[in-house]
Amino acid sequence: MRLSRYPVPTLKEDPSDAVVASHRLMIRAGLARKEAAGMYVYLPLGLRVLRKIIDIVRQEMDAAGAVEFLMPELTTADLWKESGRWETMGPEMIRIKDRNGLEYALAPTHEEAFTGTVRSIISSYKDLPLNAYQINTKFRDEIRPRYGVIRSKEFIMKDAYSFDMDDEGLEKSYQAMRTAYRNIFKRCGLETIPVEADTGTMGGNQSEEFMVPSEIGEELLLLCDSCGYRANQEKAGFGRAPAPAKGPFEELKEVSTPDVKTIDDLVKFFGCGADIFLKSIIYIADGAPVMAVIAGDRDINEHKLKSFLGASELDLASDSTVEEVTKAPVGFAGPVNDFKIRTVFDIGVRDISNGITGANKKDVHYSGVNPGRDFHIKDEADIALAVEEDPCPKCGAAMKARRGIEVGHIFKLGNKYSKSMGLTVLDAQGKSVHPIMGCYGIGVNRTLAAIIEQHHDEGGIIWPVTVAPFHVWLVGLGKAEEEIRQADEIYGLIREAGIEVLYDDRKLSPGFKFGDADMVGLPVRVTVGKNYFQTGEAEVKLRSSGAVEKVRKDDIASRLFALIETETSRFRI
Ligand code: ATP
Ligand code: MG
Repeated sequence: MRLSRYPVPTLKEDPSDAVVASHRLMIRAGLARKEAAGMYVYLPLGLRVLRKIIDIVRQEMDAAGAVEFLMPELTTADLWKESGRWETMGPEMIRIKDRNGLEYALAPTHEEAFTGTVRSIISSYKDLPLNAYQINTKFRDEIRPRYGVIRSKEFIMKDAYSFDMDDEGLEKSYQAMRTAYRNIFKRCGLETIPVEADTGTMGGNQSEEFMVPSEIGEELLLLCDSCGYRANQEKAGFGRAPAPAKGPFEELKEVSTPDVKTIDDLVKFFGCGADIFLKSIIYIADGAPVMAVIAGDRDINEHKLKSFLGASELDLASDSTVEEVTKAPVGFAGPVNDFKIRTVFDIGVRDISNGITGANKKDVHYSGVNPGRDFHIKDEADIALAVEEDPCPKCGAAMKARRGIEVGHIFKLGNKYSKSMGLTVLDAQGKSVHPIMGCYGIGVNRTLAAIIEQHHDEGGIIWPVTVAPFHVWLVGLGKAEEEIRQADEIYGLIREAGIEVLYDDRKLSPGFKFGDADMVGLPVRVTVGKNYFQTGEAEVKLRSSGAVEKVRKDDIASRLFALIETETSRFRI
C-alpha cells in the first residue's frame, strides 16, 4: 500500500480529551477518530489491527472446538422478558421502539439470544456439548465512557456460550476456553493475569477475568506471590487474625460526642485504634434499607454485600433515609439494642470487645459495646474489602496489589438461562434436562487498546508483529526520478514476496517520515535513502529493539522474512 493513496492521518499533538497512552496513540497514529462520546470510527490502519486480533480469536476458538454463529444485534423485548432481564438490566441496556411500537434492545450481551437459538436447534444429549460463539457488536450505555475504546458505548465482543449435560462437561468446556484465552492473549502479545472474579447476580459459581497489568486499569488485583492466589478486589478474601482473648467486659455507656462523626474524628476523640469501632453504614438493597456493620479500620466490599443479600441493586442510603431509619443524623448509626432493619455483620465484628459505636441518637456514641451481649449477630458474612498487604486467604503471606485492565471474562453460568428460558434436551434415559451453561467474552477493541498500553514508547506504538497493521514501513527518501524508481523497485520486491508493506512515497521531509514511522510503529522499517543510492544497501531497523542493519537489494526479502519470523516466535504459544 502506498501512503500517498492510503489515509494515515497522523497528528503532531495529543487530542485534548486523551488521558491514557492507548487513546492518545490510537488517534495520533491515525488508527481511529472520535465520532462522539464513547463512539469511534476505525480508519483503515485501525481496522487492519482489529481484523488481525479477530483472526487470532477465531483461530483459537475454532481450535478449541467452538462453532461460529451470528446473532442479530437488535433483540426483541420478548426474548429478554423470558429470562426476566428486561426488568433487571438497568439503564446500560439501550432500548428502542420500531414504527409499530414494538420494543427492542440493542444487545449489551447475548445469553438470551444464544439460549433461544440453541433451544430451537438441539433436542438430545447427542447434540451436546456445544460451544457457540460470535464476533459481533455490543451496545452499552456506560455511565462514564472513557479511555477511548477501553470503555465505549459500542464495541466488538467475541462472546461464546457453552452447553453441557452436566457439571463435569461444563468444567471441560470452561477449561478449554481458559486455554484458548491464554493462547489468544499470548499470540496478541499481551501479558495477562487470570484472576478469580465475583459471580455477582449472573447466577454462576465460578468466574475468572483476564487482566492486563496496567497503571490505568480500573480494577485492583490482589496477588499472592507465595501460593499463586489471584483475585480481583471485588472477590478477594483475606486471612483474618485469630480472635483475641475477650474480657473483662466493660459496662455499656453512652458518651456525649458532639459533632464527632467520622472514624477519624472518633479515633481522635477516644484516643484509641480504629479497629474497635463498629462502623455502621445504611444501604438500600432492592428498595429496602439494610445496615452493614464492620470494624472501623476496614471498608465494606459492596460486591460481597450485594451477593450475600442476593440483591440486584445496592446503593448507599441518602442522608435523609439514614435520618429516617436511625432517627439520628449521619454518623451516629450503630447496631446496639437490635436494630429494627436487617443488619449484616462482617465476620470480624464478633471478635471486637469493648467496642464503640453510634447510639442512633444525635451526638451520642456507646462505649463498652460487646457483641452477643449488646446486640445479636444473625446475618454474618465476609463483607470486607481486601487491601494490599492483607494476608492471603489461602496461605497467609502478605498480598500485593496491582491495577489491571479486564480484557476477557470466563464464567460458569449453571442452568439459570436454560431453566428460565425452557431449554431442555433428552438425556440417555429419555428424561428432559436443562443443559448447564458457561459464557465467555473478549473485548476486541479493548484488547487492541491494551496491546498499545503494553507496547509503546515516547515515539509511538511498538506493534507486536502478530497484530501489526502491516509488517514493514518502507521509507523512500529520494527526490530524483531515478531515486524514486529505485524505492519503487524495492517496494515491488517486498510486496511480491508477500510481505505486508506500507510504502511512504509521500513528498515529505525525512524527519517527518521517520516520526510517522515511529508513531505508527510497524515492526520493521526499511529506508531507501542516500546510503542505498550510493552503496546499494538499504537500512533495516527493528522498531522493538532499535537494532539497525544494512541489507542489499537481493537479500531484502529473505532478511525481512527472517526478521518477521523471529519477531513472531516471541508470541507463539
Ligand atoms: P467492565 O467491568 O469493564 O464493565 P464487564 O464485566 O461489564 O466489563 P463483560 O460483560 O464480562 O464485561 O464483557 C466481556 C468483555 O467485553 C470484557 O472483558 C471487556 O473486554 C469487554 N467490554 C465490556 N464492556 C466494554 C466497554 N464498555 N467497552 C469496551 N469493551 C468492553
Ligand atoms: Mg461493564
